[in-house]
Amino acid sequence: MDSSTVSVCEIFGNTIQGEGPQAGQPATFVRLAGCVAPYCDFCDSKYSWEKGKEMTLKEVVEEVDKYPAELVVLTGGEPFAQEGTPRLICALMTQDFKVSVETSGKVPLTVPFGTLVICSPKRYAGEFLVCDSALGAASFYKFVVGNESDYDHAKAFIKKNLKFTIKGFYTITIFVNLDKKKY
Ligand code: SF4
Repeated sequence: MDSSTVSVCEIFGNTIQGEGPQAGQPATFVRLAGCVAPYCDFCDSKYSWEKGKEMTLKEVVEEVDKYPAELVVLTGGEPFAQEGTPRLICALMTQDFKVSVETSGKVPLTVPFGTLVICSPKRYAGEFLVCDSALGAASFYKFVVGNESDYDHAKAFIKKNLKFTIKGFYTITIFVNLDKKKY
């Protein structure tokens, strides 16, 4: 696969972005296929790890265009595991879509100006794994907090990495763990 195609897990629309800075906005979701190691035990989209349907950028834009939303959310998997993702963002923006991308930040990334990047750092062996380029590009952060240790690590990460960020704001999502045996 080259940068003129992407591997797509699913595209669905007529829905609403449920979280983050664009919560409540009508959106079309493009779930790109594939993630990269290390993988997360708690991943809720393991089905996206498989190879998806290879589509040209034009085909993706045409599919997205069937839905009415102005906002397109690229998610995964890990969207930046694919070479074609920056070009897909450009192709969507050229058609006047607003684009936001959800990333773990564990893969180096480049994004066209105007892309909203929402980073949800994941902990591996206790530490967050986030590339410098993701730190530079992200406007919002989303932390999954299931216990006190997660909370302390998120707080330390914010203090260390985000205090001088120009955009300077972030969100914290707290998922309460009701069944401690499973976490
Ligand atoms: S980074 Fe995201 S898609 Fe990849 S394994 Fe972790 S939760 Fe799943």
